[in-house]
Amino acid sequence: MKSFGYAAHDKKSALVPFRFERREPGPKDVVVEIEFSGICHSDIHQVRDEWGGSIYPMVPGHEIVGHVTAVGGAVTKFKVGDPAAVGVIVDSDRVCENCVAGEEQYCIKGAVETYNKLDYEGKPTYGGYSNNIVVDERFVHTISPKLNSAAVAPLLCAGITTYSPLRHWKVGEGSKVGVVGLGGLGHMGLKFAHSFGAHVVQFTTSESKIADAKRLGADEVVVTKDAAALAKHAGSFDFILDCVSAPHDVNQYLNLLRLNGTLCLVGLPETPVSVAPFSVVANRRSLAGSGIGGMKETQEMLDYCAEHNIVSEIELTSIDKLAEAYERVVKADVKYRFVIDMATLPKS
Ligand code: NAP
Ligand code: ZN
Repeated sequence: MKSFGYAAHDKKSALVPFRFERREPGPKDVVVEIEFSGICHSDIHQVRDEWGGSIYPMVPGHEIVGHVTAVGGAVTKFKVGDPAAVGVIVDSDRVCENCVAGEEQYCIKGAVETYNKLDYEGKPTYGGYSNNIVVDERFVHTISPKLNSAAVAPLLCAGITTYSPLRHWKVGEGSKVGVVGLGGLGHMGLKFAHSFGAHVVQFTTSESKIADAKRLGADEVVVTKDAAALAKHAGSFDFILDCVSAPHDVNQYLNLLRLNGTLCLVGLPETPVSVAPFSVVANRRSLAGSGIGGMKETQEMLDYCAEHNIVSEIELTSIDKLAEAYERVVKADVKYRFVIDMATLPKS
């Protein structure tokens, strides 16, 4: 099937228009015409090959919202015209114990990511900065027409990546929770932790974000260069979600955890983290990590958002302004997720 999008051809050049082929839809496949595509910091890490192993040409994008334009004969969940969404995963082996448990992101064979991966036939996958995508219905989500669909797109990565660990570590009423970094992931973590009833402290390097953090649900905001403000919270948190995209000192957050507290990394800076043993030995603390979420939990999160009227705070942008959007994300200047209006993609 013919597709058209924007691709990176190496780690340094700007993304440019790119014509490519996707597979013809099979019996279980859904064709989604893409209307909105979020810009995740992971797109930038991978376009710039900051994690290594990038595959070019690369069409990024794993926060995809659109509507169904064709379905295979065996599809049961969707019909033509339905709104639909695709996130970070488009396939997994479906039979390993992790897939069976609904944790396809930890598929033992290795889940097939939406872009910058090879599928099980060895062909590269291409993501959402494009006009359409073909995906097995098992990896396509239903979305509520009640919500603004542009603002739903970031839920497919930033949403589930923060929802899943907050649920796994049972954050709720009575929990004291920290969120580090008010970017795409951080602002969703803040909204969910607040919605689950926790007392939420937002940590930020950006003084200019204090008022927004409070508006989005923070009970307290700490500007991280203020050592005295951090010290006031020593030994007091049940759970801290670290959503920072660049190298930083995790020990200062570990030291804020109470007995048995957990610091969970979702941010993926390119360099290893350095941990002082005393930071975890004291108070029997855990340093953990979490990757996106499985299909069942992603749908649960989307349904929760529809019920509680939760969406991302977005800046809508056009496909020809990717370079500017990337620069602003890297400068921590996005409020709080860029979403590409795919109607701005040239028709040919
Ligand atoms: P983002 O929108 O750029 O947000 C990152 C935030 O981190 C910034 O807004 C900023 O918040 C803070 N920050 C940036 N540079 C910093 C520095 N040098 N020191 C301290 N804080 C800094 O990025 P995102 O899209 O939310 O993604 C965040 C990270 O999560 C990325 O590394 C991404 O690859 C990763 N990720 C992981 C998963 C997963 O499954 N685990 C899924 C998606 C993304 P303040 O201005 O508030 O300080
Ligand atoms: Zn992402």
